[in-house]
Amino acid sequence: MNMESSHETTHKQHQMNQDSSNMEQPHESLYLVLPYLPLFELLAMAQTCRSFNDALNSDILPWLNIVVYDKVRRSRLSDEVLIKITSKAMGRLRSLILVNCGKVTDDGLLNVVANNPGINKLHVTQCTGLTAEGIIKAVTTLNQHNTTLKTLKINGISNITKEHLQTLHSLLNSDDSSSIDVEICPKCDEPRMVYGCPSETCNRKRTTGSCRGCKFCVLRCEECGICIEFDEEENEVACEDMLCEGCWISLPKCDFCNKPYCNKHAYKQCVVPGSFGFVCEACYMKIDEN
Ligand SMILES: [Zn+2]
Ligand SMILES: [Zn+2]
Ligand SMILES: [Zn+2]
Ligand SMILES: [Zn+2]
Ligand SMILES: [Zn+2]
Repeated sequence: MNMESSHETTHKQHQMNQDSSNMEQPHESLYLVLPYLPLFELLAMAQTCRSFNDALNSDILPWLNIVVYDKVRRSRLSDEVLIKITSKAMGRLRSLILVNCGKVTDDGLLNVVANNPGINKLHVTQCTGLTAEGIIKAVTTLNQHNTTLKTLKINGISNITKEHLQTLHSLLNSDDSSSIDVEICPKCDEPRMVYGCPSETCNRKRTTGSCRGCKFCVLRCEECGICIEFDEEENEVACEDMLCEGCWISLPKCDFCNKPYCNKHAYKQCVVPGSFGFVCEACYMKIDEN
């Protein structure tokens, strides 16, 4: 299953939606399952039984938030499916969160916001079928309905310019720069995800005033986010990531080369018989060859 979706609902409302005198109704407990089903399964189930469909249509809560997170970019979520799902929400949608849904286009998004003008949270990260112009159109449409869009996430949409970002900020009408995830990097002046340094005692922060910047301008420790100087290369890591000295010291190391994996890549640790620790992939290959 590549898709995940979330719904929230209350037990009480489902109970109210039921007619207990009707013997053809599904068992009451089945209604409790509805909010926990992935979106596509939920819709399939609604098609099999009229009372499920009625329960779903009369219950507002499952339609407040729609989340589709496509981990492997094999999206079933085309414009057509998205429009079909969101039209069922009948204007009740409050937050639309799409991650990695590359098939969704500007037309699809525009259709969704036109039919659901109450959306106040719009996240379309890594939805590469969308354009900056399309997102501006969608946000403009929401504005015409007096909706106050609170957060907008557009990280991963290509060719966003400073002008696009300015337009979006003026549309959101918010002084809070964190309402949009992408911002202008203070170092390269490009619209990107910008990170700050969590370290209070950061050397660079003290000497240069700031170590805030995008991932191209400031290298950061994969584990804790602290900035790393370009010349700090003694902390060799078994994966491609960078680690600060503190994190490098605390992570378990390969028995042969003494390089640690970051936690994200800890699954690459190989176990060899007779060893208490682990061996990194590169060392494991060497052992295998001999
Ligand atoms: Zn930058
Ligand atoms: Zn660190
Ligand atoms: Zn720093
Ligand atoms: Zn190794
Ligand atoms: Zn890593």
